[in-house]
Amino acid sequence: MSMEPSLEDRPDVAAYPGGEELYRLRHSTAHVLASAVTELFPEVKVAGGPPVEGGFYYDFAKPTPFTPEDLEQIEARMREIVAADQPFEYIETTVDEARARFAAASEKYKLHFLSMIPDGGKVTYYQSGRFLDLCRGPHLASTGRVRAFKITHVAGAYWLGNERNEMLQRIYGTAFPTQQELDEHLKHIEEALKRDHRRLGRELDLFSVHDEVGPGLVHWHPKGGMLRHLIEEFWQAEHLRRGYQLVYTPHIASERLYQISGHLENYADLMYSPMDIDGQPYRVKPMNCPGHIMIYQTRKHSYRDLPLRYAELGTVYRYERSGVLHGMERVRGFTQDDSHIFCTPEQLEDEVLGILDLMDFLLKAFHYEYVCYLATRPKEKYLGSEEEWAFATEALRKALVRRGLPYELDEGGGAFYAPKIDVKLRDAIGREWQCPTIQVDLNLPKRFGVHYTAADGKDHEVVMVHRALFGSMERFVGIYVEHTGGEFPVWVAPVQAVVIPANSKATEYAADTARLLKEGGLRVEADLRDDKMNAKIRDAELAKIPYMVVVGPREAEAGTVAPRRKGEGQLEPMTREAFLERVRRETRERT
Ligand SMILES: [Zn+2]
Ligand SMILES: [Zn+2]
Repeated sequence: MSMEPSLEDRPDVAAYPGGEELYRLRHSTAHVLASAVTELFPEVKVAGGPPVEGGFYYDFAKPTPFTPEDLEQIEARMREIVAADQPFEYIETTVDEARARFAAASEKYKLHFLSMIPDGGKVTYYQSGRFLDLCRGPHLASTGRVRAFKITHVAGAYWLGNERNEMLQRIYGTAFPTQQELDEHLKHIEEALKRDHRRLGRELDLFSVHDEVGPGLVHWHPKGGMLRHLIEEFWQAEHLRRGYQLVYTPHIASERLYQISGHLENYADLMYSPMDIDGQPYRVKPMNCPGHIMIYQTRKHSYRDLPLRYAELGTVYRYERSGVLHGMERVRGFTQDDSHIFCTPEQLEDEVLGILDLMDFLLKAFHYEYVCYLATRPKEKYLGSEEEWAFATEALRKALVRRGLPYELDEGGGAFYAPKIDVKLRDAIGREWQCPTIQVDLNLPKRFGVHYTAADGKDHEVVMVHRALFGSMERFVGIYVEHTGGEFPVWVAPVQAVVIPANSKATEYAADTARLLKEGGLRVEADLRDDKMNAKIRDAELAKIPYMVVVGPREAEAGTVAPRRKGEGQLEPMTREAFLERVRRETRERT
């Protein structure tokens, strides 16, 4: 046994959310898991498993899937291993010894890792009990130090994340220093699961994704479409009010455009293959910026024309590995709420301030708290001069200060072409989601030669700001579904009210009420199915519709309604006009 290696060259451990101690705990629990699995299922081949945010996983190759009973048995065996308090032993060896050892055990995944180390090189193991793993640590002193843990679920995972490889089984788990922390974490997971936008998207009939179409390509159903339409309408009206101009650009473009922009050089991995049009290669657009530059370039601009604020709900397509696709939140085709601002250097700070103001307005409308990060110049690879970086970064910083927004510094976290402000939303259950971004581009104006004529009569390079505030409609709506748990406020609810007749005698009055409310601008449905009232009420509750308007012969007689507000219960009877006005007011006030 030798001294454990230093953690100096382990940025992954240093950066682990929760710190090094939690890394050791979860990494050790992952070994306890693999140890239990190999004891119970000797035919299993082990691949690998690191700590990940919130827990850990370990990948196994097993001919048949792990059943829930298997997982219970594994967890029980893990508890025995913890009770046995086996020390984690650190062992140094040669790559040749390791190859011989894992070849003898037909551990082909371990042999793959070893194939990347040159002959004669050194490798390290950690061993606890009979389980030995190729491993760089770090670990706890012994399995007995593992306290509160839980296997959470099992899912398929391609070997090396490549869908052309075989599917392994990935067992996920988590571990905490105390049972109380574990319990809180599990409760949080359960809450997140209840709000999962993929599940709510199905239940509320918002969107779907289809094998026939391809993964990561979202279809918006009428209800999801209405939600999106209302958000987009709100977005557009607010942009127009603040001096933005709406533009539209094509979905495909000749490769020449992406040669000029540098996307072919720098972003080829995320662009889809070329298609041939009249012998010329074209691409589906990965970004909207070049199109907006084309529009700017159609005429000469003087400093008096600036700033110009072009806004587009622009649909782009980018390659994402299939393994990371997730409902609406991580997709291959999405609509950015994009804008590019062309301004003079003197105008930059005010423009950023205006963006922050708009962002705050939009996010507050959806009841989000948020945190700002100022990301500065990367250490190694970057474009533009030091002076340009300093100027642009300072403009972003000053705007944050003037808006009174606290920010965290993300040193070196800028894009290679731009310093930026990244903003994370905090949702109703405390999770953070990166959505808005504001970037000062130090590259494209040069590549395209984007200029304006200054007061000195000479041409100067324009300052170009990219910004998206929702990020993309898909992602923003997916996150919003989870934020609200599908309980949309009246102003964006796809259906604001459903009218339900108490019995067949009230059917006509119900239909008439729905018609009247619809004419008054409400999004309303009448449930006139030949079904019991209680069943209809239950359906409306499941659909999370804000208002249920039950009407019977008494209401028909009086010309009133007796609405029930979700979350508030039964309201006093009121005239149909009063109800209409109430919902209109809530819509105006965005409640
Ligand atoms: Zn390990
Ligand atoms: Zn852009």
